[in-house]
Amino acid sequence: MSDHVLVINAGSSSLKYSLVEARTGEAAASGLAERIGERQGRHLHRGPDGETETTRSIPGHEDALRLAIGAFESHGPSLDGLDLAAVGHRVVHGGSRFSASALIDDALVAEVTELVPLAPLHNPANLEGIRVARRLFPNLPQVAVFDTAFHQSLPPQAYTYAVPLAWLEDHGIRRYGFHGTSHAFVSQETARLLERDPAETNTIVLHLGNGCSASAVRGGRSVETSMGLTPLEGLVMGTRSGDLDPAIPAYLMREVGLSAEDIDLALNSASGLKGLAGENDFRELERLRASGDEHAGLAFDVYCHRIRKYVGAYYAVLETVDAVVFTAGVGEHSAEVRATSLNGLERLGICIDNDRNNEPATGARRISTDDSEVAVFVVPTNEEWQIAREALGVVLA
Ligand code: ADP
Repeated sequence: MSDHVLVINAGSSSLKYSLVEARTGEAAASGLAERIGERQGRHLHRGPDGETETTRSIPGHEDALRLAIGAFESHGPSLDGLDLAAVGHRVVHGGSRFSASALIDDALVAEVTELVPLAPLHNPANLEGIRVARRLFPNLPQVAVFDTAFHQSLPPQAYTYAVPLAWLEDHGIRRYGFHGTSHAFVSQETARLLERDPAETNTIVLHLGNGCSASAVRGGRSVETSMGLTPLEGLVMGTRSGDLDPAIPAYLMREVGLSAEDIDLALNSASGLKGLAGENDFRELERLRASGDEHAGLAFDVYCHRIRKYVGAYYAVLETVDAVVFTAGVGEHSAEVRATSLNGLERLGICIDNDRNNEPATGARRISTDDSEVAVFVVPTNEEWQIAREALGVVLA
C-alpha cells in the first residue's frame, strides 16, 4: 500500500478531488467537475502534463467521478499503478457523534444521514460522494473526515447556548463549529513554525475565505470557535451575516412579513459583504473601496471590526496566546485586513511588522516584529493534505 489518498469533496453541484501523498502533502493531481446536473458541465483535471478542460453534460456525481477516473487514466498519474491507501471524504456535519475521522461503513452512512437536518445543503452532497466512491472503488477503505470533529473538544461552557436546556437535549441545539480540518492543519503548522510542541502552544486561528471562522486552540485542542449550530454564526463572511441579535428574525417575520425561508436565504446568501456592498468577492470589494465606494468602505470596516472583537474575546479565553494566524483566501492575501484587524494591540503583545505584512509572498510566514510577544503568522491552509493525513491515520490504526 502506498501513502496516496484520493481526497473527495462533493458539493451539491460539484465534485472536487485531489490525489495527495499523505506524508508530504504533495498533490500529484487534482480536479473539479462542476455544474453537475445542468445542461452544460465542466471538468478540469490538473496532472503531470498540465491542465485539461472539457465541457460536457455531467448528469450526476457518479458521472463526475467516472470523468475523474478517466482523466487519471488518460492524463495521469494512473490510479491502477498507485496502490491507493484510501479515499478520504470531506463531510461537513458530524454532530456530537464524531470527534475524529472514521472508517465509512453502512452504520456511519446511516448516522451521517440522520444529521442531514443540521446541514441540509452539505451532508446530502457529501453522502452522494461517499455512495458513488464506494461503488467505484469497492476495494478501498473510505474514510470520513468531518468539518466539525476538531471542535468536539469545546468545553460545555463554550458549546452551550443559554436557551431552554431541552433544546440541547432533545434537538441537539449547540455550537458545533466548522472548518475544523483547516483550524487543525493551521494550528499544527503554527506550532511547527514556532518550533514548539503543539500540546504547549496556544493559537488564535482566523480562517477568512468565502466562509469565515475563528477558533481558539489550546494545546492543540479547539476550545472555542465562532461558527455555531450552522456555519452562519460568527465573523462577517462573503454572503453570510455572522453574529446578529437573535430577535431580528422574529422581528422581520412579525413587522415585515418575511417568512422563515426568506430570512434564512437572506442571512446565508444576501448578507455579509454582499449585503452591505453588493459584492462578496474580496478582491472586487478592495477595488471598490480603493475607488472611494462608501458601501465597500463600510463593509470592510464591519468585517475587520468583527475580527478584532473575536481576537480580543479569544485572547481572554486562552489567557496566554503564542500566535495569531491568518489563513484562507482573504487571510492569506489581504495585508490590509490583517493590519486593520490587529493594529493598536501592542498592549496585548501583538505587534505587526508593516514591511513583512505587505510583502507579496505566498508561503507560510511571520508578519509580526521579532520582539512581538505574540507571533503573527500567515499560513496557507491545506485541507486536502489534512484529510489525506487523517484518512491514512485511520487506515493504519
Ligand atoms: P473558500 O472559502 O471557498 O475556500 P477561499 O479560501 O479561496 O474560499 O477564499 C475566497 C476569498 O478570498 C474571496 O473573497 C477572494 O476574493 C479572496 N481572495 C483571493 N485572493 C485574494 C487576494 N489576492 N486579495 C484579496 N482577497 C483575495
